[in-house]
Amino acid sequence: MTSPERFIAKPVGGYHGITIEFPTLQMNIDYEEKKIKPNRGYPRFVQHPQVQILEEKAKEEYFGSSAIAFASAESCLYTVIDCFFSKDVKGIYIDDGLPKKIYSFLVESASEVTQPTTKEKAQIAIININSSKDQLKKFEGSYRIGFSKGSLEAKDHSSEYDAIIWGHPNESLGVLVLYNQDYEIYDLLRRHTGFNLSSRKAQRIIRRKSSPTFEFDLLKKKIASLEKTDGENCLLYPSGMAAIFSSIITCWKPNRPKLIMIGSAYVDTLCILEKWPSRRGTLQAVFIDDTDDIERLKDEVDLETSAIITEIPTNPLLQVPNLGKIVSIAHKKDAKIIVDNTIATPYNFNPFDYEADIIVHSTTKFLNGLNNHMGGVSLTRDPELLSKLKKFQALTNSFMDPEDAIVLERNLKGFKKRMEIINKNAVKIADYLNQNPKVGKVYYPGLKNHPDYIVAKKYLLKGCSGLMSFVLKNSNRDNASTFYDNLGHPIIKGPSLGAEQTLLCPYTILAHYNDPPEKRKKMGLDLYLFRISIGIERPNNIIASLDKAFKNVI
Ligand code: PLP
Repeated sequence: MTSPERFIAKPVGGYHGITIEFPTLQMNIDYEEKKIKPNRGYPRFVQHPQVQILEEKAKEEYFGSSAIAFASAESCLYTVIDCFFSKDVKGIYIDDGLPKKIYSFLVESASEVTQPTTKEKAQIAIININSSKDQLKKFEGSYRIGFSKGSLEAKDHSSEYDAIIWGHPNESLGVLVLYNQDYEIYDLLRRHTGFNLSSRKAQRIIRRKSSPTFEFDLLKKKIASLEKTDGENCLLYPSGMAAIFSSIITCWKPNRPKLIMIGSAYVDTLCILEKWPSRRGTLQAVFIDDTDDIERLKDEVDLETSAIITEIPTNPLLQVPNLGKIVSIAHKKDAKIIVDNTIATPYNFNPFDYEADIIVHSTTKFLNGLNNHMGGVSLTRDPELLSKLKKFQALTNSFMDPEDAIVLERNLKGFKKRMEIINKNAVKIADYLNQNPKVGKVYYPGLKNHPDYIVAKKYLLKGCSGLMSFVLKNSNRDNASTFYDNLGHPIIKGPSLGAEQTLLCPYTILAHYNDPPEKRKKMGLDLYLFRISIGIERPNNIIASLDKAFKNVI
């Protein structure tokens, strides 16, 4: 396979912007087919240039072939161990003095999968990098991972390891250096766990600047009050996925192995549930695509169910599950409900009003609203869940960086005003798309012809937020390209959502291109489904750009 062509992308959101523009539909496909590689991108997928600098440094120092940065050495170690749980490895050894708690935590939750072992029997050995050559010899035949928390200085025999975890001595930062082709699996896992390194933190470390002081409690209080709870019930993470992953881990119990997902869901949340069962022998994932299928839900929820996960509205099909009914079914069996409220936002909906157990948000989206921050939040009013969430957060050392928190706090000031405009604009654009003869179907719960219109009216009190999806009437490659390639100002052709700038992307291509067509069909996803996140621009200008793009669509 030839290596991908480098593509210098235009960042959206400034230097620490979290998205980029793909000018043509073909470029989205080339990206998925790994024919082009942007120099930056959505931070969980493509590392920011500042993060790449640190990765390159670690790679050079340890003569590795690739490197991946994490939010902390602990979250890096967690991901590495979790990765080996996936490979049906029966024996992992961890050296004395290394953060064993992580391993114990994983063993507690899946003891039948992987047992701690002695040096002689270890298939995987995580060893202090200061070990002597003789000590290392004892692990011959094992996959040897060197763990180093200190200055970035290779030890003479570092080349004898199969991988190295380097942790910064003073800052929370971990880099995994690899010597073989395992890069993809770790990168994929990091994407799902969301333990990515903040570009602002990377920049600070490179410039040897200290962390700014920040009153996290105040920010927590502000977010918590939007969701009708107290600041103490709020945890801040480096990404939305970190909040989701941590919440799922917190609810999951080995004696209640079932997790149920209701409705369409963001691709990486879906991936956690899809990938885990094969990694943890006992975990069972159930997908109920139709949010109205309450009978099926009643059948599925049992005493083995640890949690139900749903988004309101769901991404990308904008279904609105009947949370009240779901909660009552779940709570009868003592199962927990996790609601990803990223899209509705607390401006329109408060899941705690319906007794949800955990609310999560990707603060990267509407709460921040300017494409220049990545973060996540979990909130719970349940003291037991709160204490478990805190324990897992401390274990993985995965916290929102203070500089990202500063940006979020600043941008949160405009949140309500932004949402008021976005709600109104979205109705106008949805109406326009709904009446456009070139459009085959619009997914927006504020439209009377949406199957969840009545439920949406009940739950989404101020509006249905800014996200909608649609397919062309003649949905094919040529029409999709004609439409997409001709879009212009003010619409930005890039992934992500929830910003004050309108963002449009070919969602299925970006999130499910490599899925088999039957799977896409089951999920109800047309290959050329477009998703648009409406911003605060004048609606007539958004419509003018869409009109121009539709002009030559047949
Ligand atoms: N939840 C929803 C609904 C999303 O759309 C996304 C990302 O697009 C996430 C969670 C993940 O958030 P983040 O990208 O901040 O990790």
